Amino acid sequence: MQFDLTSDQTMLADAARRLSEENLEPVLAREPAGTPLSKAAMQEIYGYLADFGITAARLPEEFGGSGLSMLDYGLVMEQLPAVVALSLLSHDGSTVRFNAGADPAVRAAYLDDFRSGRKIVCTANSEPGAGSDSNAISTRLEIEGDRAYLTGTKMWITNASVCDCMIVSCSAGRDDRGRPVPQRVLVDLSQSRVGLAETPLAGLKQGHLCEVTFDRTEVPLSHLIGTPGDAGKYMTIVWNANRPLIGLMALAIARRAYDTALAHVTERRQFGAPLAARQLIQQDLSDMEAMLTSARLTCLMALATLDTGARSNGLSAMAKRLATGNAIKVIHTAMQLCGGMGITEELGLAQLWADARVFQVPDGTQGILALIHGRDITGTAAWR
Ligand SMILES: Cc1cc2nc3c(=O)[nH]c(=O)nc-3n(C[C@H](O)[C@H](O)[C@H](O)COP(=O)(O)OP(=O)(O)OC[C@H]3O[C@@H](n4cnc5c(N)ncnc54)[C@H](O)[C@@H]3O)c2cc1C
Repeated sequence: MQFDLTSDQTMLADAARRLSEENLEPVLAREPAGTPLSKAAMQEIYGYLADFGITAARLPEEFGGSGLSMLDYGLVMEQLPAVVALSLLSHDGSTVRFNAGADPAVRAAYLDDFRSGRKIVCTANSEPGAGSDSNAISTRLEIEGDRAYLTGTKMWITNASVCDCMIVSCSAGRDDRGRPVPQRVLVDLSQSRVGLAETPLAGLKQGHLCEVTFDRTEVPLSHLIGTPGDAGKYMTIVWNANRPLIGLMALAIARRAYDTALAHVTERRQFGAPLAARQLIQQDLSDMEAMLTSARLTCLMALATLDTGARSNGLSAMAKRLATGNAIKVIHTAMQLCGGMGITEELGLAQLWADARVFQVPDGTQGILALIHGRDITGTAAWR
């Protein structure tokens, strides 16, 4: 067991920090703070991410993927602005979902553009009636000759309003228990008509969350991916890596709140001494540091476990739940340590709280993550 980064990992994390400071943050700063980034800004960001080699981090190397381990990907992700990291997670995971089972000619037509970030891709699974119960999708696939048609509504889709293509989960029929048979379909927005409506977010306000409607949206039959019924498997494979990565994103936000609070209590004097000299304040700082460190190590352990080829369902779920939960607690305490300054907009802590809070829902709510972990512990699924 080793807890220090190798020199290569240190260089990688430093390079990712410079990428953020020198290239990504300036793009975000140029755009309005409270609204989703423009498509032009997203294209510029994806250009930088592609130059860094992380637009298809999880794609197998034989298909031109980065060859980055999940652990190293985590070390990069925690350095990126959260709004960029969440978008990249969707793009990179969707590229994996596309590649596994795509028709060879369709793969040849699209993969290079996804890998290079020239085209942005997202995954549309959630629906008004299918959130945590992700298999309960009702978006219908109808096949007529060599064309397929999609009808239904998707909700809360990351990247949808700025993407070029979507990997849509739809129902290809019903199994013998009456459950939908989920099928992946590539929808190219330059060819197929799709309705898009942005849904404003409480945090990460420069990000994109969309409602997507399909009204007999036509797609070529060759755009069906994999085999009917396998969509859930590829959702889970991607989620298992997404979860600790999202945990690291939330913790990076919380670390900023901790740093802000530490600077504040070091400067601020009350009752004749710096706040940092008081026992109760030191206990808060110790609790915060413990929450950040323990959750980060758990996320890195989950990623390292995935690198061994293990499935890691329970560990990944535990890591995200612990990390996003701890992030919220740390920011909450940071706000309290800063008193009036913490509750006004001056230090930006309330915004950090809202940004980190977003991460407690996608790719498994806190409750569902506990149930996934609980299933690993007990061998019994408790959600049905
Ligand atoms: C920022 C963000 C990005 C997203 N990006 C995408 C995306 O790119 N693609 C996509 O397809 N979707 C995306 N989503 C949707 C996301 O996957 C769903 O919001 C999530 O799965 C939860 O579904 P829901 O909102 O319908 O909540 P619900 O499933 O209705 O859950 C509501 C509450 O009930 C609890 N609950 C549910 N079932 C049980 C049970 N059996 N036992 C106990 N408690 C239960 C949950 O834990 C939760 O607290 C995104 C959401 C957000 C917020």
